[in-house]
Amino acid sequence: MSGIFLPIRIEFGKDSSLKVGSEFSSLKCKKVMIVSDKGVINSGLIERITKSITEAHIQAVIFDGVEPDPNIKCMETARDFYISENCDGILAVGGGSSIDTAKGAAVLVTNSEPIVSMAGVDKVNNPLPPLIAIPTTCGTGSEVTNVTVVTDNDHFKMPIVSTHLIPKVAMLDPNLLVSLPSKLISSTGLDALTHAIEALTNNTQNWYADSCALHAIRLIGIHLCQATNNRDIENLSQMLYASTLAGVAFTLSRLGLVHAMSHPVSGLAGVPHGVANAVLLPYVMSFNSIGNPGGYALVASALGIEPQENDIATALAGVKEVIKLNKQLDIPKSFRELGVNEALIPHMVEDTFKSGNIAINPRHVSKFDVEQIYKLSFSGESPIALFDSETITKN
Ligand SMILES: [Zn+2]
Repeated sequence: MSGIFLPIRIEFGKDSSLKVGSEFSSLKCKKVMIVSDKGVINSGLIERITKSITEAHIQAVIFDGVEPDPNIKCMETARDFYISENCDGILAVGGGSSIDTAKGAAVLVTNSEPIVSMAGVDKVNNPLPPLIAIPTTCGTGSEVTNVTVVTDNDHFKMPIVSTHLIPKVAMLDPNLLVSLPSKLISSTGLDALTHAIEALTNNTQNWYADSCALHAIRLIGIHLCQATNNRDIENLSQMLYASTLAGVAFTLSRLGLVHAMSHPVSGLAGVPHGVANAVLLPYVMSFNSIGNPGGYALVASALGIEPQENDIATALAGVKEVIKLNKQLDIPKSFRELGVNEALIPHMVEDTFKSGNIAINPRHVSKFDVEQIYKLSFSGESPIALFDSETITKN
């Protein structure tokens, strides 16, 4: 079934973020809580945005307590700050952690139940206060998605999925990405690539999502390396556009095994989300290809690969292209290289199977399969071994 419902206005363009004051004015807000992290605040990016709000005769207060992989306490603290300051609107400025914290705080402002009870799909009853998102990375897509991810007290990353979580407006300003460190451009860009590949190849079927995903893959293939190396406005603009397209794609179509497996790596070992996805992506693509050869052949074509003798061969060439891209971007080949403790694998396998994305993965996957994929991604051995491996459960 294909359909689209995306209740958000997207503004794209250099300095578009400076119109945020008039946006909050249209939303009849009197006092806005800006949610961001200390890195973004210290870079000075917030100052012009805050000025735009105060020039619209709206008060602005800054919540700067955002942490990577935000936990329940972080979101509750932001909620308490919002209430104590009598705010009536929220602005998220930053990467996925800032936007997700803003969404989590917003959910808690209008819904009295504990955040844990809203984990899962469509469990948020009440609409959020007006929320605007301004991304400063090119990966999360959270500025347009219906998801926030909260890390619980057991380091498990729980997604909360609801249409209420889609911001009212996303303001995409490529000027805000120019000071982003190269390492963050590459890792967040590879997160966006993973969003697009999983939305395109999983078992949900949505043509609108596929169109967004395919174009996102194409743009990332062309622009990610140049954006990382040159940090120029043209390539960064295309990456920001691609990241939002990938966010639209997975809001309509959801994700797959890479995200199911990467969340435990980030939650338990603190590996940044984009890096965890990038390490796992070629392994999961290899494993999944025989579950949807046509889909993975489309991924390869979007990355510029010529069609081979059949879809499987084209898909395999696509896996090799992603390995090459990771190498060009200096992504470590294995979790061992990143210092992750291998003894965590059994815990990671258990947490992987709590993800709803397992059910829509294009290839049936068992706990044994996931353990084997983790083991390979720790060793850094070639993912191509997974392509038609006899050791893995056959479809
Ligand atoms: Zn992601």
